[in-house]
Amino acid sequence: MPPQIRFADIQLLRYEVPGFDTLSLRQKKLVYYLSEAALSGRDILWDQNCRFNLPIRRMLETVYNAIASQETASSDESENSEVSAFLTYMRQVWFANGIHHHYSMDKFQPAFSETFLRKQLTAIGYPIDEGLLRAIFDPTFLPKRVNQADGADLLLTSAMNYYAPGITQQEAEQFYTEMKANFLHNNRSLHEPSDYSPSQPLPPCPPSFGLNSRLERDANGKLCERTWKSEGMYGTAIDRIIYWLEKAATVAESEQQRSVIAKLVAFYRTGDLHTFDLYTILWVQDILGDIDFTNGFTEVYGDPIGLKASWEGYVNIRDVQATERTRRLSENAQWFEDNSPVDPRFKKRECRGISARVVNVATLGGDLYPASAIGINLPNSDYVRQHYGSKSVTLGNLTAAYAQAARGNGFYEEFVHPDELSIINSPLSLRLDDLHTDLHECLGHGSGQLLPGVDPDSLGSYGSTIEEARADLFALYYIADTKMVELVLVPDEEAYRSQYYTYMMNGLMTQLVRIQPGQQIEEAHMRNRALIARWLLENSGAMELIKLSHPLTPSPSNTASGAPTECPIAHYLHISSYPALRQAIGKLLAEVQRIKSEGDREAARQLVETYGIQVDPALHAEVLERYRRLNIAPYKGFINPRLTPIYNTEGEITDVTISYDETYDQQMLRYGRDYSTLATD
Ligand code: ZN
Repeated sequence: MPPQIRFADIQLLRYEVPGFDTLSLRQKKLVYYLSEAALSGRDILWDQNCRFNLPIRRMLETVYNAIASQETASSDESENSEVSAFLTYMRQVWFANGIHHHYSMDKFQPAFSETFLRKQLTAIGYPIDEGLLRAIFDPTFLPKRVNQADGADLLLTSAMNYYAPGITQQEAEQFYTEMKANFLHNNRSLHEPSDYSPSQPLPPCPPSFGLNSRLERDANGKLCERTWKSEGMYGTAIDRIIYWLEKAATVAESEQQRSVIAKLVAFYRTGDLHTFDLYTILWVQDILGDIDFTNGFTEVYGDPIGLKASWEGYVNIRDVQATERTRRLSENAQWFEDNSPVDPRFKKRECRGISARVVNVATLGGDLYPASAIGINLPNSDYVRQHYGSKSVTLGNLTAAYAQAARGNGFYEEFVHPDELSIINSPLSLRLDDLHTDLHECLGHGSGQLLPGVDPDSLGSYGSTIEEARADLFALYYIADTKMVELVLVPDEEAYRSQYYTYMMNGLMTQLVRIQPGQQIEEAHMRNRALIARWLLENSGAMELIKLSHPLTPSPSNTASGAPTECPIAHYLHISSYPALRQAIGKLLAEVQRIKSEGDREAARQLVETYGIQVDPALHAEVLERYRRLNIAPYKGFINPRLTPIYNTEGEITDVTISYDETYDQQMLRYGRDYSTLATD
């Protein structure tokens, strides 16, 4: 395979798709059609992330192509450095699906000049749009995609495009509170979707109001929704998705899968959120096939108030052997629920339908591309989860690609206390990462219940962090349980220790490498890990950060002086009692579940604000410096393999080939060309 590529803080990886070549022709066609559907919604996400993203991408790609077509590089050195800064910026924008960093949410600062870009545009006769140039170059304009700062108006201060400019957080929250209240007071039959059939009962709860629309003002200034559907907003992209889904339906693996696809198409046509719930109910029960997919408005992390969903899509193929591991967990779901340290009132009486499998990804799209999750648990509706269960997957080939990239880069040698290094470096340690992901996804998110009458959205902007903390704590608690030995998932009762060590080290120290100096922790999963690790540092009495004298590895700045310099404040995590740490994890799990079950927003706020957000500047600087010397990219993402259908003279597909040789730039330009489904006006 060609080498990985690096730019800015990014490393691109490739993933292989084991098992693709052994699929039947029918299955290969199914994977191909679903992959096309997963790529066809790309433009939706770009527009959701910021209203300037699509025209900026098209403008930059035109400049990119013009630069690439110039035969020789300029002899002017400053011109060349502008070009290379432009290429870096282009690749960053591609990676982030827009002009804001995918993780920190901060707007990229281009290292080339506005004069350079104007000159390029003029040379190729591309119309200059002052608004776009301002969006790129003015650091005070739309500085953050998703602002989570406590106390600010989260909508007015965020650049995301889910709400028309000028709509306040209070207006939007009130709009949806009233919508829910109206639903609960009115006869439910008024809300029944047109394709409703009594054979499949409608959930009695409100659907996820707001999920698939942009909130705008009408001509009279009244708030109204513009729904994302065929013939609605994003209609041209959605029609293309429908086209490929309908092709997929013709080669579906079962009648059930065909009805899943049909219901999804009905949702895309109508935009009706009840139909969406019915679709997820069918989807979560369709577990027998080898090929599965997600396609739609799914996760709400991109909306500061967590209502509106970004578009994502991906296709996966079951990994039969690894699925056996998660089967053992999900078969025992009720045992885990019954034996957890949470208050019995917050436990599920009956755990059902938690299906878990290990899959290999065939195509990533939308909000899962190029940066992807490694485990996915859907659907997000609490009602559907409680009554029909959830589907949980570990993305095995992505995990393997990460593990391969992390091997031997010196990271653990730098940050792990020398006494713990042998545990961390064992092959077992890698397997425990997978086990943690399995526990988090297939048991953690699926566990527990809300008390009757508690609104699932009552934790507001703290909801995502608390939910991730709940799933992680569940995983951490049980990975140390003797049940793991009994189920032959770990070899002995001490195996969990490497997972505790790396998790706490990450939450306390090493995840800080993803944050710029002076910034706070923003992203929900990072806040969750900080919250857990720092709460335990303060309250468990089982671990501490100690200082050891630390010979810095030579770097270009100090090799000149000869001897390595001493760093007097190198911190290492020391865990003095693993059993005591586990006990404290159980205590925090019980509290976090209480907060979720009771909808205790104030307690959620306290916990997240106290432990999940602030950064100790001195420790942060030290970690950044130690990390910088290792020269590792803090963020990783994936280049998709390319699926190519082979047609016969009758125009029928006779085979689908898979190749791994496309470069990052080639793939991005091709996607920009072939999946440009939304016009820019
Ligand atoms: Zn999660």
